[in-house]
Formats: sequence, C-alpha cells, structure tokens
Amino acid sequence: MTENVRVRFAPSPTGPLHIGGVRTALFNYLFAKKHNGTFVLRIEDTDQTRYVANAEQYIIDSLEWCNIPFDEGPGKNEKFGPYRQSERKDLYKKYADQLIESGWAYYAFDTAEELDAHRKNHEEQGKTFIYNWHNRQKLNNSLALSADEVAAKINAGEKFVIRFKTPQDETLILQDEIRGTIKVETNTLDDKVLFKSDGMPTYHLANIVDDHLMEISHVIRGEEWLPSLPLHELLYRAFDWKAPKFAHLPLILKPVGKGKLSKRDGDKLGFPVFPLEYTNEQTGDVSRGYKEDGYFADAFINMLAFLGWNPGTEQEIFSLKELTEAFDLARVSKSGAKFSPDKTKWFNQQYLQQKSNEELTALFLPILEEKGITTDKDRTEKVVSLIKERATFVADFWELSSFFYQNPSEYDAKAVKKQWKDTTSELMQELIEVISKIEDFSIENAQTEIKGWITSKEIGFGKVMQPLRLSLVGKLAGPDLFDIMTMIGKETTITRIENAINELS
Ligand code: GLU
Repeated sequence: MTENVRVRFAPSPTGPLHIGGVRTALFNYLFAKKHNGTFVLRIEDTDQTRYVANAEQYIIDSLEWCNIPFDEGPGKNEKFGPYRQSERKDLYKKYADQLIESGWAYYAFDTAEELDAHRKNHEEQGKTFIYNWHNRQKLNNSLALSADEVAAKINAGEKFVIRFKTPQDETLILQDEIRGTIKVETNTLDDKVLFKSDGMPTYHLANIVDDHLMEISHVIRGEEWLPSLPLHELLYRAFDWKAPKFAHLPLILKPVGKGKLSKRDGDKLGFPVFPLEYTNEQTGDVSRGYKEDGYFADAFINMLAFLGWNPGTEQEIFSLKELTEAFDLARVSKSGAKFSPDKTKWFNQQYLQQKSNEELTALFLPILEEKGITTDKDRTEKVVSLIKERATFVADFWELSSFFYQNPSEYDAKAVKKQWKDTTSELMQELIEVISKIEDFSIENAQTEIKGWITSKEIGFGKVMQPLRLSLVGKLAGPDLFDIMTMIGKETTITRIENAINELS
C-alpha cells in the first residue's frame, strides 16, 4: 500500500467503552501499525443530550491499558485538531450551507409535532413515514416554499434543520473492504438531517467533514454503521471529495442465544463487558472491568483480535506485535463473532503460563502483604513456579499456595473420611520419627528416606502420602509433596503432622 494510511476511532462519549468499541479501536490500531499509518482518536460529542462527563477519560484510559495508544487526538499531536467535535462546532455550518447552495441539501421547518402527526397518520394506515423524494415537495421545507417565504421564516428566527436531498431513482453500488459490493436503491433512503436546530451538526455531517479534513484513508467501524454508508458515500459525492475506503466489522454476539452482546449478558453470566471498571456518576452503579477482574491486557487484546478475525492458521497466541504483522482486513469475517467468557479465561491462563516467575511474583507479593504474610521474593518466586500451572489469574495464587505460608486451618471433611483410617495416626507418628532423623532435608534425601520406609513397611504409598498431604495442605490438592515439605522445612512438616494427628484421631 503506497497511500498514507490514516484511520480513526471515533467514539461518542456516552458512557463506558463496551468491548465492541475496544475491538473497533484495536482493529484500527492494528491496521494503522501494519501500514505504518496513523491512528487518530476523535471524540464525537455533538449529541449534547447523551454526553457523559467521565466517558472521554475512560476511553483514553482504556486504550492506554490495552496498550493501543492513539497517535493523534485530544491533547496529543494536534496536527488536525481539535479532535473533539464540540470544539469544532463552528466549522460545520459552512459545509451545510455549501450543500444548500449546491442543491444537495435544503432547509426544513417541520416542527416535531408536525412530524409526529405524519408518523402517526402513516402508522394508522400500516405504513412508515419516510421523509424523502416521494413527499418532500409536500412538506414544510425550502423545496416546497418560495425563496421569499424561506427567507422570511429564517429572518423571523423560525427554527429549521438542514436535510440532505437524496438523489432519486438511482442504484448505488458501494464497496466495503469486508463485505464486498453492496447495492442500495436511493429511493429507499430518507433525507437525513445534517444540521440540527440547536446549531449542531448531526453525526453524519460532522463525521464526513472531519474524516475529510483529517485526511482519513480508511473508515473501520462496527456493522451498526453500515446503514449509514449510502448517505456517507453520497455526502462525499455532494462535496466532491474523495471518499475513504470503508470496512464494517461484524457484530460481537451473545455467548448464548441470539443478538448483540450487551451489558446484561455480562451481568447475567458473570463476566465484564468493559475493559476497566466504571462508575456511573449519576447512579453510583459500578460495572466490572477486565483489568480489575485480573485479566492481563495482552491476553484481553489477543482474545479481542479473534472476535471477527483469524490468521488462517492454528496459532492462537499472538503478541500485539505479531497481531500487527498478521492483521489483514481480508481475513475479517462478515458474520457475527460469538463472545466466549471461557475462551477469554483460557487466553488469560495461557498468558499467565508465559509470564516469568519474577513478573508474577511482583504481582503476588502485594496480595501476600495484604494477607499479613511476611515473606521474601525468592521464596515466593519458587512458590509461584510450583503453582502457576494450576492458575488462570494471579488472584488464584493464594488459594493454590496458602499452605506454603501458613498451617492449614481446617481439613477437607470428605478427604479425611476417605483417607484418615483407624491406623493412620500410628503410621503418621512413625513417619514423624522417620522425618526427624533426616539430617539433610533436601528433596532427594527426603524422598529416599520416606519412600524407603514405606517400601520396608510393605504398605501402599497412598496409605502414607494421602494422609501426609492432608496434614500439610488440609486437602488433597497442591504440587508435589516433597516440594512442599522441603519448602516449609522439616520442623513445620513435623508440626503439621502432629496437628493433624491431634485433630483427626
Ligand atoms: N461516533 C460514532 C460511534 O459512536 C462513530 C461511528 C463511525 O466510526 O463512523 O461509534
């Protein structure tokens, strides 16, 4: 690709960024980086009624946590700025005026009540009201009124909107990088409002003007914007501007049932739909985030990349750099991508296994500190190496390793019933004797002595090892017993066996 790739992520700050939005940002980022292009963040805040004050910062923080920062945007490299549409508001009117002059748009004075009446009237007849070629001549607008009447209304301060005059009787042939050719009859389109009576542009006008002024080469966005594509292409034609290429990403679908993934699915099935925790300032409601739930950003991103894209190989684990190299719009699917909370956990588990013990230890130490455990880094690093294969999250570590740090406070009743027999206490007493005689309490020595003793007694290993595990761990789980014994040391091993004898006999 020789052209200068410039893409943008253009969220509306109406609340926290849903993972679908993060996926859109990610695909834009990957596409930009793959082509040595620029990833722009533009805040589309023209709808003042839906504006949420903390949403923009949330969006920026989310991109940062995901490690997919924008190259240009609010407060950064403001070459084409400002990047908040509310700060660009004065520039849109002239473009709306330009379309009026060239005959591509018109003033419409219909009041909300009038439009409502038309809608009701149509509904009663089983029809839907569309404001377009077939009725625009009969409605309250500058196409139906004389130039003098229009001027008089405007001078009198009457409220108006500016509507796009969609061409009649034309078959539009549109191209989408993912979906291929799409045909649309212009007669099915309505004359969308471009400029509102409150002096603000609508999404459509602001979006096209900004994409043009910011020299956007590719528009990569969610499938929900596909119905806007005909109007957007027509706007480029009306302005006589070169249109960017368009790619509409497939929807992210519910894990079960049909339809788009929503926050409700997450609440119901117990997984977050937002990258970061979010507090609704009005209601005080707190929504869970992947970060706070203990996911690694790189695992989260890897999972998201596979929602609607695949590399065409068996490989599933991709670093951000590898994703950048492998990403291709041609491998983005047209059909919706089912979200899987289990697969998301699987990605995290895979990433956790890849992380160094040192890195994981740094994350585990504060948790230990919170539990009031004083320990050192080296010992914890060893613990981490022994337990990590059973963990999906760092938060699982404590549950998997508490016995390295403290004596068991209870014994799993079921296991006790099964493994602690009448003769067990006596056996364990003998085992204490064997252990106290081991001078060099290394894994090898302990193993030789204890296993030798069991063999000499001609009893099954399980008869000793299972009660021993219960004594040391409190349940029949955990890493190799000799690892545990040598980590906690000879004295603690003996104390724990004594405790178990006292408790369980
Ligand atoms: N502001 C729109 C949104 O919230 C942008 C759509 C587009 O990318 O054109 O998603």
